[in-house]
Amino acid sequence: MKTASFARIRLGITAGFCIAVMLFVPFTSAISDQTSSQTVTEPYQYHTYDALTDELHSLQENYSSLMSLSSIGKTYEGRDLWMVKLSDNVETEEEEPGVLFMAAHHGNEWPGVEICLFFIRYMLENAQNSSLPEVQNVLNTTQIYLIPMVNPDGVTADTRKNCAPNHGPFGKKPTITSYGVNLNRNYDDPWFLAYLFPLRYYLPMILPDASFNYRGPYPFSENETQAVKHFTEAHNFSISISYHSYGEFIIYPWMHTTKQTPDEMLFRSVGENISLINGYYLLVKNDRLIPLYGGTLGSSENWLYREKGALAYTVEVGNERRPTSPQVVFNLCMTQTTVHLYLCQRAQTIESEKAALHQT
Ligand SMILES: [Zn+2]
Repeated sequence: MKTASFARIRLGITAGFCIAVMLFVPFTSAISDQTSSQTVTEPYQYHTYDALTDELHSLQENYSSLMSLSSIGKTYEGRDLWMVKLSDNVETEEEEPGVLFMAAHHGNEWPGVEICLFFIRYMLENAQNSSLPEVQNVLNTTQIYLIPMVNPDGVTADTRKNCAPNHGPFGKKPTITSYGVNLNRNYDDPWFLAYLFPLRYYLPMILPDASFNYRGPYPFSENETQAVKHFTEAHNFSISISYHSYGEFIIYPWMHTTKQTPDEMLFRSVGENISLINGYYLLVKNDRLIPLYGGTLGSSENWLYREKGALAYTVEVGNERRPTSPQVVFNLCMTQTTVHLYLCQRAQTIESEKAALHQT
């Protein structure tokens, strides 16, 4: 998706990166350890599910007053779907605004997992850092939720879909016909539209169960999407990012049509600020690029917006699916940490902004 617009927006990267550098000079992390101990020819070591599990437990033990760790469900292969909450009074549901970050709906897109884990470590390790008062301020005023690996079976198998067996496109066949559902097509949405407009909604790709974009036999047929559904019904948050890779762009509902939501102005305002920080291209709703990516039914973003009114973004990080350079991964993580801090601060006013918008 290289366009002149991309080139233009790349100018913003420098600004975003400078902001990140100014804010985040002191840090300690697995990633910085790697950047200092490895030569550039050694590839970055992504966290496996087991490594992520170990690290989350270790962090929770060391920072139990600021971090809670729970499993919101199990995958077909029995792995836990970890949910991290960061906040003061972390065991209590408070009235504070909430934000949600998710990664790895697609099991072969790993950088988002590192971004979530880096952010968790960054917040915990700098909570008492007097030179970074915004970290403590955000922890005191926000409830931050993270589901860093939505599809751990897929990550482990290094595959886009999950690993549950399929029984034909509608789940009716007695034998196993293939494996895996594209979790980011399995959320509830007007699924029938695919039959009315089969080309617009890529019916030949989302219906056959062996397809890499198979949407499943029915909405929320999968353990992972059910877990996210139950989590979102039980917690309040107003802004979210779901990480994918790659492409360096940002998209938001509606994901299945170029029509605008009633909150287009807010989506665009928050999205433009994300774009200023990370330099990514914001695909706004009158953008002629939209048809290249549009027509997606069953995404988490549509469902989070429909169900919660959340400003739910997909951020496609990086310019390759799995960067191997530790420095590149570190830069992604640090820049998105800046984005997260911005979103936590913006979440403080978003509900009143929304109310004001709909009053006029
Ligand atoms: Zn993806």
